[in-house]
Amino acid sequence: MSTSTIKRALVTGGSGGIGAAICKRLARDGHHVYVHANRGVDAASAIVSEMLTAGGRAEAVSFDVTDAGATQRALEAILNDGPIQILVNNAGIHDDAVFPGMSSDQWHRVIDTSVDGFFNVTQPLMMPMIRTRWGRIINTSSITALTGNRGQVNYAAAKGALNAATKSLALEVASRGITVNAVAPGIIATPMSKGVFDEETIGRLVPMKRAGLPEEVAGLVAYLASDEAGYVTAQVISINGGMI
Ligand code: NDP
Repeated sequence: MSTSTIKRALVTGGSGGIGAAICKRLARDGHHVYVHANRGVDAASAIVSEMLTAGGRAEAVSFDVTDAGATQRALEAILNDGPIQILVNNAGIHDDAVFPGMSSDQWHRVIDTSVDGFFNVTQPLMMPMIRTRWGRIINTSSITALTGNRGQVNYAAAKGALNAATKSLALEVASRGITVNAVAPGIIATPMSKGVFDEETIGRLVPMKRAGLPEEVAGLVAYLASDEAGYVTAQVISINGGMI
């Protein structure tokens, strides 16, 4: 890849299953990748080491996306070295309970991580990205926002808000060479889904009879982050083995 096409990318939740695959793929595509973690700083550092060994450009960064001040300070340090042109808002949690038994804390933690996290990370990066007249914002949503899922009213609301924000922000920045899309995975084989879906359930729910791989989600994100995808914006793109 020529140096003119190298972009600086930030992947939130890069220490997790899907995020790590996205980081590695973007680095393989030649980008300089900030691998973000919250508590998993050691995991992010190990992923960075692996990426550097493979010849990529990467560094680790950690902050809680729900903490506006900490996020702002961390992003200022990143922006001192130049704009971020590829942003993958991938940090997310679920905390499931049927709605009558859901606590206020469960509701807010899940919503705050996805929705406040989206604002806290994306907003400070916008003006520097706009000035470059090229950008890619990719938000990790979920099939749950599209179909609903029992026990995940909070998670569905969080990811649904992300889908709606994706479409509106895409309209605001379309004329500046910036695309904004969401990817909506079904069941992907990561620690997050392991405790939730057993083999029998996956066989019943997924027409392809298997969980997706983090690398398959990373391939879709890498496409959306590429020059080739310059006319794809304001979309929520499913990747779910045929679940819907
Ligand atoms: P993981 O649990 O493996 O990773 C979650 C990531 O989010 C971790 O890097 C974690 O950081 C980060 N994170 C969580 N809370 C915060 C916070 N407050 N501030 C900053 N970072 C935070 O999950 P997956 O890789 O499976 O999921 C990645 C994304 O994909 C999520 O948004 C999830 O909702 C979505 N998704 C996953 C599916 C699946 O089947 N796995 C299906 C559909 C969507 P750390 O560990 O460092 O604290």
